[in-house]
Amino acid sequence: MKKERFDCIVIGGGPAGLMAAYSAAKHGASVCLLEKGEKLGRKLIISGGGRCNVTNAKDLEELIKQIPGNGRFMHSAFAQFNNQDIIYFFEGIGVSLKEEDRGRMFPTTDKAITVANALVSQLKQEGVHIRLHTEVERVLYEQDACTGVELKNGELLKTKAVIVASGGCSVPQTGSTGDGYKWAKAAGHTITDLYPTEVPLRASDEIIKQKTLQGLSLREVELTLTDPKGKRVTTQEGDMIFTHFGVSGPAVLRLGHFVSVTQRKFGIVPLQLTIDLFPERSIDIISQETWKLCEEQPKKTIKNALKGYVPERLIPVLLQKAELEEETTFSHLNKQKWQNFTRLLKSFPLTIIGTLSLEEAFITGGGIHTKEVDPRTMQSKKATGLFFAGEVLDVHAHTGGYNITIAFSSGYVAGLHAAQYTLTS
Ligand SMILES: Cc1cc2nc3c(=O)[nH]c(=O)nc-3n(C[C@H](O)[C@H](O)[C@H](O)COP(=O)(O)OP(=O)(O)OC[C@H]3O[C@@H](n4cnc5c(N)ncnc54)[C@H](O)[C@@H]3O)c2cc1C
Repeated sequence: MKKERFDCIVIGGGPAGLMAAYSAAKHGASVCLLEKGEKLGRKLIISGGGRCNVTNAKDLEELIKQIPGNGRFMHSAFAQFNNQDIIYFFEGIGVSLKEEDRGRMFPTTDKAITVANALVSQLKQEGVHIRLHTEVERVLYEQDACTGVELKNGELLKTKAVIVASGGCSVPQTGSTGDGYKWAKAAGHTITDLYPTEVPLRASDEIIKQKTLQGLSLREVELTLTDPKGKRVTTQEGDMIFTHFGVSGPAVLRLGHFVSVTQRKFGIVPLQLTIDLFPERSIDIISQETWKLCEEQPKKTIKNALKGYVPERLIPVLLQKAELEEETTFSHLNKQKWQNFTRLLKSFPLTIIGTLSLEEAFITGGGIHTKEVDPRTMQSKKATGLFFAGEVLDVHAHTGGYNITIAFSSGYVAGLHAAQYTLTS
């Protein structure tokens, strides 16, 4: 039987590969999508807590701001296919979307599988040949041009263009095991240091070790990370949760990138994190309000008087840090210690000793050096016919739909230009 030959091979069935395959086929190329797993979009299906935060509705400037890892590289790609195009695309294929807080867009079904299924049916409609359980071993090159791929089973597939969309190396059980880096390296690409981003943080404080606050969530707090020289690195706002190893939650995940970068700069040294429980109120207001609460309930212990103002489980921890007895009543309140207490409400300290591992992180920081990839086409500057899309690149964003936006946008652009390349070369 004669083996079919495709114009373009896409490696990886994540959001970047799915969109790249769709786009290449839509723009006239015959496309084969290779996925080593038993199904497509495994990470996509678990994304956004199984609801898939498919993109973010914020304006382009904000989009770039939310991409701390080489956001500017995405300017050209967003000019061709951005968040609004993603929304339009999904609405157009029957996936209605809704906007939630901070511009986050989800399918109205609240099911990530809706997004994955709709995308896969588009691929089928465009005639994309899909091969599951098909692991790529190597990308083949001849004289700085990409010529095909070799599969793990030894099979050779010749083609004019290869789009590498194999993801990073976080949550490897979804298939993202960093395979794309070695293929890029073989073409002469630099792989920048890989590190965990959008990742929970480990803390060494006694309250963490003792699991005193494990499971306690704090809403709309402000977290400030300080470097070993006492300089503020970043402030992030949002929700957080205490865990058995440290802290997690959306605001904490956004700090992950900065902890990794700061510890790479200063070495693995402890960093201070402070929690502002009341970012909207000044310390004077908090002091007045809490003082009044105790004054108005003179018979109650301060611990009880503060209930409702401060999260209940936090009160004993704060009082102990401020050297105040839980059973103290208003008439015995020491003003100096009270000031210490209110100061803690504005800057409760934690000692961050690192992040969880790269495998446990939501996103991989680092990857294929963006200087070696043409941002207008996603084509390699080292080998013609070689394209990249998604998390395999050294581009990463905060949570909030921005990473899938990068995957879809770079995937679409890579597919478009790979198709143009194959049809004109
Ligand atoms: C738990 C979790 C929740 C997330 N939630 C969100 C969210 O709500 N919004 C958001 O924007 N981002 C989210 N992210 C991040 C987002 O899912 C990723 O950034 C995105 O999936 C990256 O897409 P990708 O296509 O580049 O790579 P991946 O999704 O990692 O896909 C890569 C694919 O390539 C395949 N592959 C790898 N090597 C080979 C090989 N040798 N041969 C063949 N196939 C191969 C893999 O099996 C895999 O299917 C989340 C991440 C995690 C872990």
